[in-house]
Amino acid sequence: MDIVFEQVDYIYHANSPFAQRALYEVNLAIEHRSFVAIVGHTGSGKSTLLQHLNGLLVPTNGKVRIGEYTLTNRQKQKQLKPLRRKVGVVFQFPEHQLFEETVEKDICFGPLNFGVSEEVAKQKAKEALALVGLPEQLLSQSPFDLSGGQMRRVAIAGILAMEPDVLVLDEPTAGLDPYGRKEIMELFARLHRERQLTTILVTHNMEDAAKYADYIVVMQKGTVWKTGTPQAIFRDIDELLQVGLNVPETVLLKRKLEEKIGREIPSPCLTNEQ
Ligand code: ADP
Repeated sequence: MDIVFEQVDYIYHANSPFAQRALYEVNLAIEHRSFVAIVGHTGSGKSTLLQHLNGLLVPTNGKVRIGEYTLTNRQKQKQLKPLRRKVGVVFQFPEHQLFEETVEKDICFGPLNFGVSEEVAKQKAKEALALVGLPEQLLSQSPFDLSGGQMRRVAIAGILAMEPDVLVLDEPTAGLDPYGRKEIMELFARLHRERQLTTILVTHNMEDAAKYADYIVVMQKGTVWKTGTPQAIFRDIDELLQVGLNVPETVLLKRKLEEKIGREIPSPCLTNEQ
C-alpha cells in the first residue's frame, strides 16, 4: 500500500485554549514495500505523524491516503477497523501491553478480535512466534515468566499474527542493550526482506536509520524538513549537525578519512544511490 500525506496539519485540542499545533502542511509519500526511517528531535512531530498511519489520529486539515483508505477529519472511527488490521503498529515498550495468561492467548487476541476462528488464530500464533524466532514451547507459558527481550518478541508476534501489510515501529529498540537492539533490528530487516512488509521506523538512532532504511524522512518543528536516501541525507553532515541531529559515527569517520585522502569513498552501510 502506498502511503501519501497531502498538506496534513494536526492540532491537538483544536478549538480550545490549549490548542497545540503539531504538524504543519506535511507532504510525504512512502512507497509500497519500502523501509523508511523517520528521524528528528523530540517534539518534531514523529509520534503525531505515526499515529496518522492507522487512524489513531486523523488530520485536522489535509488528507492521508493509505492504499484504498483516505483519512480526513470527517472519518468515523469505526470505519477504520479494517485499516488497523493492515497497518500494525509496534508502540514503544510493546511488552507493557501483554496481559493474557499465556503467550498463545496474547498472540491470538488480535486475530480473534478481527473475527477469525479460534483454530485459525492458534495457527497464526504458532507461525508468528516462529517468525520472531521463539520456540513453540513458549505458547503455553505466561508472558510474564519470560525475559524482557522475549516479552518484546511476543508482543511483536501479536502484531504479526494479524498479517499486516505495513509495520510501523515506534522506537522499537528503546531500553534494550546493544546486543538486544541489533537482534530486534535484524528481525525487522528480515521481515521486510522476506515478507515484503512496508516498514516505517521512528527512531532517534541515526545508525539504525543509516543501516536499515532505504529512505530517511527528517522531521523538524512539525514539518518534513528533508527526505532522501541515507546517502543523500548524510551527504551534508554540517547541515544535520546544525539542526542538532546526531550523525552516525561511521559517517563521521568516513568523512574524516575522505578529508585525509582527498577523495570520496563508497560506504558499505550507505549503499543506496539517490
Ligand atoms: P516527537 O514524537 O517527535 O517527539 P510529538 O509528535 O510527540 O513529537 O510532538 C509534537 C508536538 O505536539 C510537540 O510540541 C508536543 O508537545 C505536542 N504534543 C504531542 N502530544 C500532545 C498532546 N497529547 N497534547 C498536546 N500537545 C501534544
